[in-house]
Formats: sequence, structure tokens, C-alpha cells
Amino acid sequence: MSLVKILGVQMFADLLSPLFRERRYDIDKLVSIARKAGSAGLVEVLERLAADLARDAGLARVAARLGAALAPACRRGAAECLAWGWGIEGARARSAGPARGFRAVAVAPTRHCNLRCPGCPCTTAPASAGDPPGVVARSLAAARSSGATLVVVQGGEPFADPGRLFAMLEGNRDLYFLVITNGTLVTRDAARRLAAAGNAAVAFTVVGGRDETEGRRGPGAHRGAARGMEELRRAGAPFGVMPAGPGFDAARFVGDDFLRAALRRGALFTWYAGGAPGFAWQVSERHPLLAFRTPRELTRAHPCLPLADDETADGLSPRVRPVA
Ligand code: SF4
Repeated sequence: MSLVKILGVQMFADLLSPLFRERRYDIDKLVSIARKAGSAGLVEVLERLAADLARDAGLARVAARLGAALAPACRRGAAECLAWGWGIEGARARSAGPARGFRAVAVAPTRHCNLRCPGCPCTTAPASAGDPPGVVARSLAAARSSGATLVVVQGGEPFADPGRLFAMLEGNRDLYFLVITNGTLVTRDAARRLAAAGNAAVAFTVVGGRDETEGRRGPGAHRGAARGMEELRRAGAPFGVMPAGPGFDAARFVGDDFLRAALRRGALFTWYAGGAPGFAWQVSERHPLLAFRTPRELTRAHPCLPLADDETADGLSPRVRPVA
């Protein structure tokens, strides 16, 4: 690892630690590095963080929560794989490589799910269904070579096959994984392994409150997901909530009640999967949800990082992800 990378990763890790308020001077250096790498999104986030630090608002409050919540390995993993690997090194590769424009790849190690939501094809997928190991391996290789080193783990339910999930996470420490889950199989052991690996964040799909969730997903689904969040919170592993259909109510999911409830559970981010897939550091100014609230308003009101599929990006994976 080069000296610049060692120092850069440490500076990002410090920004995600309780030390972050003392690191104002590092932000200028990181902005300069991000600018040279052509990472416009990262430059914007860092500049907003610097401005918000002066007012102790917005992203400064998000950083404070991250510093208090994350286990050391998770701070390190986010700094090394996500901020440096994806944000700096990946930005260079993404702008130069053949997969120009791609920001993430998607894999589905299993298409099986333990729940039975009406109309979902995963309800009938056998336990063995999912991307074959060779396809997953080629997808991860494509992620590395294209700089799209953020890997979205879809389902089925990824935690239904913890062996494959953790083999992938623990065997690819240079990549950062965003694991989409219904949350009911996030056990204490799984939470501890995630906290120790440090290179993954968990997105809980949310269809509504207790009654809506149990009505759609079955008895115990809401309680099970709440238990999963609590295990992750205790272990210090990052997680957020991802509003999901059917009947996606945009105004509700950027509303104060929804965000307060997510924060109470310990969510560190919200992920709004809107129109065409993609990935942005933050909600794009053109995201449909922003008919209701802007990213600045969201972070000003609630210390929870808003992320979104960005309809301006060019697809999560179809051109990057190899087909079997
Ligand atoms: S939780 Fe998700 S993957 Fe599982 S059955 Fe319901 S909609 Fe399908």
C-alpha cells in the first residue's frame, strides 16, 4: 500500500471516529485528493461536511453518530474499501475504464427467501437457487477491474445462506458490500461477523409499520427485523433502512415520523431505491423523492445519511455483471 493511501485511509477512518471534530484540517487534504481523482460526489460530501462542522449540523451530526456507533473494524473497512477504494481509486478507474459510468455491481448468492410475500418469485425458489459461484466470482472481478467496487447483495434473502454470504464478504476484503435483507435472519453471530469483517453495511427493506409488515410478510416478520437491527446496533455494524414496495409512499418515507423511527432503531442511512438503478453518495437532486424534501433538508432534520439509486447513473450491473 502506498504511503499516500495509508495516510488517506487513516484520515477517512478518523473522520468516522469520535476524533472527527479535531480533523477539520484533514478534510481539505481529502478534498484535494478526491478532486484529483475526479470524484465529484466525494468532493461534494467532504465540502458539505466541512461547512456543517462549523455549525455542528447536517453531515457533522451524521459523522458524530457514525463515530459513536461503528466498531473499529467497520470504521476501517468503510474508510479503506468505500471511501478510498470506491471513492478515490474507483473514481479513477470508473472514469477511464470500459465500464464507464457504472458505480456498483449486483450479485444474488441465493434467490431463496425464508418469508412468503405474495407475488414474490423468491417464495418458490429452492434453497439451491442463486447465482452460481463462478458468476459471483466473475462479477466481483468485474467490480475490481471497472472501479465499481461497491457490491449490492440482492436476494432472495442473503442471510438464508450465511455460508455463501460470509465466504464472499470475508474472502473479498477489498470490496464493500451492501447487503439487502428482510432482517429476520440477522442473528447475533451474523452481526458479530459483520462487525469483525468491517466491509459491509446492511439495508433492511421496510414495507411499513408493524401491521403492514406482518400483514404482507407474515407473523413475526416485524419483530424479527427489529431484533436483527438491535443485534447489529450492539455489535457496531452499520445498517440502514430501504423503503420497499408495494405501494411505495415517497412522502411518507422522507417524513419525520419514518426517519425518527429509523433513528431510534439505530439506522445510520436510508436508501431510496427509486427509478432506474445506480448508486449515489447521496440522494440525487433529480430523484423523485425530492419533490418532497432535498438532501440538505433531510440531513439537517435527521442525522441519517440519505442514499439513493440515482436515475442519472447508468445501471447497477447489467453491463458489468457477467451472465452465466
Ligand atoms: S422478504 Fe423480499 S425476497 Fe423475501 S419473499 Fe418477501 S419480497 Fe420476496
